[in-house]
Amino acid sequence: MNSSEFRRRGKEMVDYVANYMDGIESRQVYPDVEPGYLRPLIPAAAPQEPDTFEDIIKDIEKIIMPGVTHWHSPYFFAYFPTASSYPAMLADMLCGAIGCIGFSWAASPACTELETVMMDWLGKMLELPEAFLAGDAGEGGGVIQGSASEATLVALLAARTKVTRRLQAASPELTPAAIMEKLVAYASDQAHSSVERAGLIGGVKLKAIPSDGNFAMRASALQEAMERDKAAGLIPFFVVATLGTTSCCSFDNLLEVGPLCNKEDVWLHIDAAYAGSAFICPEFRHLLNGVEFADSFNFNPHKWLLVNFDCSAMWSRQPAQMLRLKKTCFVSDMVRKI
Ligand SMILES: *Cc1c(COP(=O)(O)O)cnc(C)c1O
Repeated sequence: MNSSEFRRRGKEMVDYVANYMDGIESRQVYPDVEPGYLRPLIPAAAPQEPDTFEDIIKDIEKIIMPGVTHWHSPYFFAYFPTASSYPAMLADMLCGAIGCIGFSWAASPACTELETVMMDWLGKMLELPEAFLAGDAGEGGGVIQGSASEATLVALLAARTKVTRRLQAASPELTPAAIMEKLVAYASDQAHSSVERAGLIGGVKLKAIPSDGNFAMRASALQEAMERDKAAGLIPFFVVATLGTTSCCSFDNLLEVGPLCNKEDVWLHIDAAYAGSAFICPEFRHLLNGVEFADSFNFNPHKWLLVNFDCSAMWSRQPAQMLRLKKTCFVSDMVRKI
């Protein structure tokens, strides 16, 4: 495809997309297909001869659309809202053209710098404490992650590294393996399944704290679990508080849990994946009170802020902790953006 064909096909694609969005409510939200529907409809292996562009486009309506769940239909009420908007689609197109890999500042200065400044804008909109912002030479700062699941894992790995270093500094004979065996993390029994998964991937115990009658994690239940575990020789090191649980939008009691985490010197990560966008509204900002006790905070602009998947905004007051991860893991954008 040369540039003149790209111009033509690009305009056709824009029309196709605009028609799709304009007519989306007339499509059936959930497809009528059975698992495996697609394989018989397409060749078993990549064809030797190319298809025409027209044929490929025809296949979209014939083969792909019948198997699409239309998340942006006004009749879609499953899972959670996921964002999509025309400006975000246009931006994705430009990103595709520039196609940079921003693994360091020099790899594409605008990529790193725009991200840092936009994360400050977003942080200011949420009225995050100053410590989470990069500013001109701040300690804190935000980095875009792929998903909230990834953000929780990154925070857990950073917390694991931090506690391991602290314990080894006090007792150099301790091996990381001996420490890891004893580490224990906590989250409400209402937390997203990705929190449990982060514990599995991070190789640490993760305990569910029974929530109260409002489906909120309270300090009393968390403290009880920590005391029990400490008495059994375990080391509490990480807590995930959820603001806006996926199943019922309950809020953990941050003003209770936060001070407890600070007192116990455990890393507090806040998962506000889908409700976080609401804190931009002054009338909902109070739901974020207590964020000042947290070490890291995350929400998903790709859920409720008109940004296409994937864009998960994560802030930490000590990105330097994330930087130390460099030696132990590769998943952290924090690592490559600093
Ligand atoms: C949606 C959601 C997640 C997972 O978000 P991904 O970006 O898909 O990983 C995690 N936590 C909560 C509270 C959520 O609502």
